[in-house]
Amino acid sequence: MTGPSFPAEQTGRRFGSVLIANRGEIALRVRRACLELGLRPILIASEADGAEQPAPADGGPLCIGPSAPGRSYLNQAAILLAARVTGAEAVHPGYGFLSENADFAEAVEKAGLVFVGPPAGAIRIMGDKIAAKRAMMAAGVPCVPGPGEPLPDDMDAVRAIAEGIGYPVIVKAAGGGGGRGMRVVRGGGEIADAVAITREEARRAFGKPELYMEKFLERPRHVEFQVLCDMHGNAVWVGHRDCSVQRRHQKVVEEAPAPGIAPALAEAIGERCAEACRQIGYRGVGTFEFLYENGEFFFIEMNTRLQVEHPVTEMTAGVDLVHEQLRAAQGEPLDAARFGGVAAGHAFECRINAEDPVSFAASPGRIARARFPAGPGIRVDTHVADGYRVSPYYDSLIAKLIVHAPTRDEAIRRMRVALSETRIEGISTNIPLHERIFADPDFGAGSVDIHHLEKRLKEVD
Ligand code: ADP
Repeated sequence: MTGPSFPAEQTGRRFGSVLIANRGEIALRVRRACLELGLRPILIASEADGAEQPAPADGGPLCIGPSAPGRSYLNQAAILLAARVTGAEAVHPGYGFLSENADFAEAVEKAGLVFVGPPAGAIRIMGDKIAAKRAMMAAGVPCVPGPGEPLPDDMDAVRAIAEGIGYPVIVKAAGGGGGRGMRVVRGGGEIADAVAITREEARRAFGKPELYMEKFLERPRHVEFQVLCDMHGNAVWVGHRDCSVQRRHQKVVEEAPAPGIAPALAEAIGERCAEACRQIGYRGVGTFEFLYENGEFFFIEMNTRLQVEHPVTEMTAGVDLVHEQLRAAQGEPLDAARFGGVAAGHAFECRINAEDPVSFAASPGRIARARFPAGPGIRVDTHVADGYRVSPYYDSLIAKLIVHAPTRDEAIRRMRVALSETRIEGISTNIPLHERIFADPDFGAGSVDIHHLEKRLKEVD
């Protein structure tokens, strides 16, 4: 089989300290994992966060710059300097910010530090959706119908491609992300405008005008596979997740395992993903995102980082993904006996955001009181507490409420109780939205598609 392969850019040296190039709940999540493995975590913070982050016993975070992300968490030079002055030997990028920036991964390695993530070459390929799709086609991973090629400039040729796929189609930016840079086209009359607008958007937002086209699926679910790889050619998949409850292509609730997927099909797709990783020389954790419709999987993209929703896999697959990430970065071989694709029980995650539950406008400000649930099968990943000021500079995620129970129905009941025990005073949150989702009979029955939440929201407004 053919496919791109990457030179061994990483060396997998042992390290004793890790600079965590992130903030919020994920910085604390990674800090815990470091301490558990006997590694020294080093936290950094912007000015806004520096005042808020509770200083752990091992010292407060190092302030690396002003509150605007471009001058702190996205400032590569400041982060590398922080690593040098603190004697860090590795850098964990968390999610968002620089986590999928190939140049940063390269700069970290050039500075003599270990980047806790895949080789820069893998990040670069997966960051270009056309290259990613082509790599997946070569590895035999099923993709959304459509050529893995950039759209030509000639509109007649573009029309011929659309007709070949069959309307409706979706025009997507190769460099797109965050649900932006895509447009659905339902007939030949709309196509010239759609391509021109999306190309201009792509040029401005992502600095990359390349577009591609694929079939637009009308009622898919979003189902993704978690993979785990070491530096010795071993790769396993450790479960799947359903993230179909979305608003504006942003995930709101996630669960593991994805309900109603035939185990043999999941095994076949999961194994394809693992094989693709072996072929491209992938290392660390990664996620293959698919659309799932009428019993078929269609690859859309690969995320080359730890995901926000990783805890639902941890709860059901009995694996600590951050431990595994740190072990893989040190060159430890994967102990395949510890992981399987078989999930035990069911887990949900609610993303608790500081936002108005009706208008969805961000709701920064001071949290007067924060009370989180407790009890069997409850996990809360958060950085907030009484008196914490939610900054307008960053995304609005303030906590992840995760539950685990033997069955999906029990997990739903557990989440309803957990939500009722959660109290955040002083700012608005989307807890009322989560309460509605977990009371929705269609959601309760499983298998809602990616448009379900938005349809429900329209019915009530
Ligand atoms: P991003 O990198 O911006 O998240 P993705 O390619 O992952 O972009 O797509 C984000 C979302 O857009 C998907 O979860 C899905 O809701 C929708 N989407 C993308 N491609 C298609 C498609 N071919 N058909 C239908 N919906 C799609």
